[in-house]
Amino acid sequence: MTLFQVEFEPQASPDVLRAAALHRAVTDGIAAVAPVAGMNEARVTERLTHMIGIAPEAGDDHDRRQAVRQLMAWSVDAAELQSRKKRHKPVSQRPAGVACRLPRHARVTWACSEMVCGLCADPVPVGDLVGRMPTPAFYYQPMGWLCTHCLYLRRARPRLRDVLLRVFHHVFVGSGIGLNSYECAVMLSSLEEDPAAPRTVAWKSVPLDGVLVRLRTSLREEKHTTWLSMADGLTMVAVLRETAAARSTTEREIELMEAILQHVEEWRANAYKVEARRFDTGPRYRQESLARTTRPTVLSKLGGPFDLHQCAPGAEVSSAPMDLVI
Ligand SMILES: [Zn+2]
Repeated sequence: MTLFQVEFEPQASPDVLRAAALHRAVTDGIAAVAPVAGMNEARVTERLTHMIGIAPEAGDDHDRRQAVRQLMAWSVDAAELQSRKKRHKPVSQRPAGVACRLPRHARVTWACSEMVCGLCADPVPVGDLVGRMPTPAFYYQPMGWLCTHCLYLRRARPRLRDVLLRVFHHVFVGSGIGLNSYECAVMLSSLEEDPAAPRTVAWKSVPLDGVLVRLRTSLREEKHTTWLSMADGLTMVAVLRETAAARSTTEREIELMEAILQHVEEWRANAYKVEARRFDTGPRYRQESLARTTRPTVLSKLGGPFDLHQCAPGAEVSSAPMDLVI
């Protein structure tokens, strides 16, 4: 039984399908939708390719999941598919300033059903803009479809969760933690919010006084990148978790901090006996450990490591205003 024969029951969500099952779901979906819309399959495929920005067979599992979501939406709203009026893809103008150099997205579309951002895991409502980043190199894994904030604004208007995610993915790939001045400001204000932070267990074990000086310097000099060690980054997360009750902290922030600390401890202790002979001791080891975790979290469900860098200085610079034109 396929997605298009089961009236969209929760267990038939494309989110749980992979590889060959997704290919089948796309093929079945096109075959199911074409007669409903009174179109031939080639025409449905053409519209689908326009909507997700890539032919389903040429994309990856994330693209095919989006294709299935779109086909499911069309199967209950054939008028949208039949409409001759082509919906134009949004034109985005990216933030200016030190955070303007996020790599340009590979493709964008609109959420045709409720979905979850592939980076911050926020729910994305129907109709919101979503997009894919370019395929990454090295050890990095492709992120799924990202929400508008993660596509354009996560470095210019960072939330604490954006900075926490940077810490996690930098540690995941085994690099120092590079924060721009906006991110340094968010981290600094969170660390300074509770005056008792220097008395936490984490701070006493790895004092952050020097880190605070560097964060303030980054702010004052509007530095593009301030590099912090992995130990300092993880200590900041631990201090923020310890002081969460005394600060204005959200449930989502606490969940994320606990997930980071849990996985880092699993990596440190090799909790799942990941064989160094097969997986080495770097990103592949941490990836396998995450996949084997017996306590799944928002982070283990999304995977990684993700490339959250910006482009090299001079590349992709935009002086456009902050607003998105959609
Ligand atoms: Zn997001």
